[in-house]
Amino acid sequence: PLVYLNGAWSPLSEAKISVLDRGFIFGDGIYEVVPVYHRKPFRMSHHLARLERSLGALRIRNPHTLVEWEDLVRQLIDSSPADDQFVYLQVTRGVAKRDHAFPTNDVTPTVFGMTSPFTRPDARQRDHGVSVVSMPDERWLHCEIKSTSLLGNVLAKQYAVDHQAQEVVMFRDGFLSEGSSSNIWVVKDGAIIAPLKNHLILEGIRYGFIEGLAAARGLPIEIRPVTEAEVQAADELMLSSATKEILPIVSYNGQPVGAGKPGPVYARLRKEYDEAIAAL
Ligand code: PMP
Repeated sequence: PLVYLNGAWSPLSEAKISVLDRGFIFGDGIYEVVPVYHRKPFRMSHHLARLERSLGALRIRNPHTLVEWEDLVRQLIDSSPADDQFVYLQVTRGVAKRDHAFPTNDVTPTVFGMTSPFTRPDARQRDHGVSVVSMPDERWLHCEIKSTSLLGNVLAKQYAVDHQAQEVVMFRDGFLSEGSSSNIWVVKDGAIIAPLKNHLILEGIRYGFIEGLAAARGLPIEIRPVTEAEVQAADELMLSSATKEILPIVSYNGQPVGAGKPGPVYARLRKEYDEAIAAL
């Protein structure tokens, strides 16, 4: 597959950016990951709407119209032979003399796009679940922006790796925020419980999917602050992200979650997610 950089297509190894790119120097940019199943993007319009919101939050001019973004995603998909892919899009503020403040001249944002083969979560993860460890959320206060400044998330994911877990569950001031690269879901007495969509979490496209599904199917759902004690006492825990889809969490800080195996609410959401993909 070829990669896209500022209007040109090239092999990945030949795509080059300036060392003065503000994405390199400051992490001054945003990104999106769009999952593709049997060559069709899943919820692309939601991803492109979030991309627009992230750019707006950082006051980076959106270099493309919605139609141009959709075309780019389709060209990336076409450039790869893989049936399942994930398309990565990144926009930085552009190249400028190093200075923290925005450049005063009208710099052109840097646009990068690539696609990779997507290996969906395997049967083991889907049927037996993953383990997580908890930690304090030490990130900044604009987690709603899908920024390439990911140091807090990088350190959090490494904390999981260092503790033989697949993901962390982070708490800010005693309340659940999210994982290093996923949203976290609690199930108690049949109800799905999730933290508020505010500046403390990234509103996942799967967050919206699950919320919409609950509304459409009449599944009990509570969107509200969630305490650490509630997470500890959950009947089920789940995580969601573009690349992890929806996965059951069966171990929390080394203790079994609920019955220690994936529960019925997970099974329901898993079935619905697979059906939505099959219907693409
Ligand atoms: N939170 C964070 C911090 C993430 O990086 C991700 C993955 N993009 C998510 C939540 C889940 O978002 P989505 O469902 O759009 O992948």
